[in-house]
Amino acid sequence: MTIAILYRDELREYDFGSGHPFRGDRYEIFPEFLKKMLPDAGTYVVLKSDWARDEDLRLICSQDYINFTKGYFEAASLGLSYPGIFSAYHSGDNKPQGRPGRLEEAARLMIGQAKQAVDIIQSGEYDKAFCIGGNMHHAKPSYGEGFCLYNDNAFAAKYLIDRYGLEKIIVLDTDAHQGNGTCEYFYSDPRVLFIDLHQDPRTLYPGTGFADEIGEGEGLGFTINVPMPVYAGYDSYRLVLDEIVLPVSQEFQPQIIIRNGGSDPHFADGLTSLGLPVRGFSMIGEKVRDIAELCRGKQIDFIGSGYNREALPYAWMALISGSSGFGLKLTDPFPVPQRFQTDQVLENTRGVIKQVKDNLRPFWKCFA
Ligand SMILES: [Zn+2]
Repeated sequence: MTIAILYRDELREYDFGSGHPFRGDRYEIFPEFLKKMLPDAGTYVVLKSDWARDEDLRLICSQDYINFTKGYFEAASLGLSYPGIFSAYHSGDNKPQGRPGRLEEAARLMIGQAKQAVDIIQSGEYDKAFCIGGNMHHAKPSYGEGFCLYNDNAFAAKYLIDRYGLEKIIVLDTDAHQGNGTCEYFYSDPRVLFIDLHQDPRTLYPGTGFADEIGEGEGLGFTINVPMPVYAGYDSYRLVLDEIVLPVSQEFQPQIIIRNGGSDPHFADGLTSLGLPVRGFSMIGEKVRDIAELCRGKQIDFIGSGYNREALPYAWMALISGSSGFGLKLTDPFPVPQRFQTDQVLENTRGVIKQVKDNLRPFWKCFA
């Protein structure tokens, strides 16, 4: 089946300005690379989504937050100031620098993409949709942080529940940072099984996502945090996927899988300290493909992060290729340093896996 790639040029407006680590150029680098790597007509289509309206956004945040965010970022893109207390709605890392792009509009487009992805999969038109851009997993209900304004992961899951009545959704977050926003949205909701593989929170923003954070109330046991050791590489990720993610997914029997995350677990990423080579992203894609087979292949992907310009398109493409079964043999665009050629921290990862299973044993037969 043909896959859908959701993208349009206006995403480039998601640019916090020169000097900020999140720039819009990633949305120029990747589409060119995609055309070069996937020449086969008929294997994919690129769809252009509409911008989300206020009523869409209200599914995940308050009108008050929308008004401030729209007003502030519109003014910033014109070089103007805006009244109101920024810190009441956003953390400091969301503050644009210099002359940013039309960020709020692009953030709306990301939610529009999430909405279209859900609609085209639920209608049966496509079984896999890849939203380029987005990956806005730090945005909380009515609070923006971590370069994120509106949470597209949360929107997709809530829209699937509200509009289509789904009751079993997996959100698998493989971004290097813990998806603290998404985690908060569904912490007490057993309809969303949230599984997050991220760098040890003692060493990286947002500093949350320890193994004992497993949900609360009715959602107890439906949040799974796997804090990966610093420098965790291919073998560590594969082991966590095989030992935790696959068995728990089989037991949960999802109706759809949402996967989130770009290239920032790559060993050469500028903001993080993990150890994945490009082939590790292919492997993650292939494992997600296996999980999606539990729900007739239904998968929505959000790909946006990455702070190494050279590695970024290779890792993004590897995620798409692995998930879609294209089987592209992608390798790193530069030599892999000795210390990342083998996974040096596999034993530490085994310890983390044991800890995660111990905490979740009361809730899952597969960990008994
Ligand atoms: Zn990240």
